[in-house]
Amino acid sequence: MMKLGEKEAEKLAEKFETKKPQEVLEWALGTFHPRISLASSFGAEGVTLIDMLSKIDPKFRVFTLDTGRLNQETYDLIDKIRTKYSVQVEVFYPDTESVEKMVSVHGMNLFYDSVDLRRLCCRTRKVEPLMRVLSGLDAWITGLRRGQSITRTDVKKIEIDEAHGNMVKVNPIADWSNERVWNYIRKNEVPYHALHDKGHTSIGCEPCTRAIQPGDDIRAGRWWWESPETKECGLHVHKKE
Ligand code: SF4
Repeated sequence: MMKLGEKEAEKLAEKFETKKPQEVLEWALGTFHPRISLASSFGAEGVTLIDMLSKIDPKFRVFTLDTGRLNQETYDLIDKIRTKYSVQVEVFYPDTESVEKMVSVHGMNLFYDSVDLRRLCCRTRKVEPLMRVLSGLDAWITGLRRGQSITRTDVKKIEIDEAHGNMVKVNPIADWSNERVWNYIRKNEVPYHALHDKGHTSIGCEPCTRAIQPGDDIRAGRWWWESPETKECGLHVHKKE
């Protein structure tokens, strides 16, 4: 297993802070491939990174977590991406028994009942499958951006992921704005999620994501019934709890 020390990661983060995402990706693939993969829910950031990766090394890896509650438009886009980039999108599902038990006890739409139940659903459908994927990797790539929410302002381009066994987490577009992402998509004719044209800025599970109003925070459409501080699903946590 290839690991980086805290100090080494800090130095690399400093070095790459002013570099282009493609340079970060080249370093990451050169260092960790094939034990590195992009995590994508097929939002604007994910497809941007897929396009960049495909131009660096067509053998790049990408995975997604199918929670069982995704939008049809997400499945349509996954197939479009598979065809355009000739890439096998690795799809991971939650543990069947855990989902069966959860919905039998708490109901199909438990996430609306309390923050705790919403977190239970995210843990069962996303966090546990993610742990399974990450246990087979040394590093993962994400489309996290500092501008996405108040929970993401200190994201570095390269960091040690303490919550996931001190593996390496690479966030090549941490410093990009939403506008920059969309300029890239348009310029490179990257296929994007159909719900973006209907006012969705953040792509997630169908019952937990909705369109936002002009001027709203970019992740306002996620778990819109909760306060901003609770709006993470547990996939991106910095420290072990
Ligand atoms: Fe469950 Fe909603 Fe979390 Fe998806 S986003 S895993 S449906 S609580």
